[in-house]
Amino acid sequence: MASTRFAVFGHPIAHSLSPRIHQAFARQFGMQLEFGTIDATPETFGAAVGQFFADGGTGANVTVPHKHAAYALAAERDVSAARVGAANVLSRLPDGRLAAHNTDGACLVRDLRERHGQVLEGSTVLLLGAGGAAWGVAFSLLDAGVGALTIANRTATTAERLVHALGQPDRVQAIPLTRLSGAGHFDLIINATSAGLLGHSLDLPLALGGPEVFCYDVSYAKAALPFLGWARAAGAGHAVDGLSMLVETAADSFAIWHGPHPVTEPVFQQLRRHLAVQAQESSALTV
Ligand code: NDP
Repeated sequence: MASTRFAVFGHPIAHSLSPRIHQAFARQFGMQLEFGTIDATPETFGAAVGQFFADGGTGANVTVPHKHAAYALAAERDVSAARVGAANVLSRLPDGRLAAHNTDGACLVRDLRERHGQVLEGSTVLLLGAGGAAWGVAFSLLDAGVGALTIANRTATTAERLVHALGQPDRVQAIPLTRLSGAGHFDLIINATSAGLLGHSLDLPLALGGPEVFCYDVSYAKAALPFLGWARAAGAGHAVDGLSMLVETAADSFAIWHGPHPVTEPVFQQLRRHLAVQAQESSALTV
């Protein structure tokens, strides 16, 4: 019988939604699979991945802080992983070696276009952050035809490195996060920092907002609240978190491993309800 063992690696990882998402996708096709979470530190990640695949694992999702390490372990890389130098999907090849994919950027673009109706061609985009998530999405935003991409990061040199890697100085510029006042008008503002995850707010000028501005945080649930709160205060026309991006990236992994592409909307809605119940329960506990 074909192996059906999958997992998500991260640190921390216990509260990952990936097992729930993959089980929901599997039900769409009447499939049975095992999908676990594996908590590995940067020191133990390589050995843990080796053990997982040696024990019959077929595929793994990889999240913070292991995406670069996952890329380094793979013998084959798709174009998206190769240009970013990081991977969020590992799959066992028939000869036992590993293949790496990076689906973050393509999934963000699909989510923006198909779920949120955004027209990216010719748009002006402000990307906050220059870490792994920002690298993952920046190339895909350019592929999607955005007219101008401004990357603002706390550490200016990191943003400059990303701009250099993107190689399109006519369309891309870096500016320090502290110099956003008067930086111009943006159709789309994407928060790809981990500030919210760390419980921090970004000190963004309210003048960046406005009814025609679409704000998107790649983080989701509680981690997205500071940025979404800012977007509301700034009068942004629309502000959403990255829960749907997470579901889309899981769907692309599912298709890489199993062939068919699952339907994402019902799973996204189910997760939204699950997180709302969780939030209600935790606020009831803290009252
Ligand atoms: P990294 O650690 O690689 O990068 C973190 C980035 O956030 C850096 O640019 C860092 O700036 C910036 N940052 C951190 N704290 C602050 C702060 N207090 N003020 C300003 N900037 C700050 O993380 P990732 O890029 O991998 O992940 C970022 C977020 O995206 C995470 O919350 C992650 O969960 C989420 N994510 C969601 C996905 C989804 O599918 N929805 C997919 C991928 C990521 P500096 O360079 O100065 O340190």
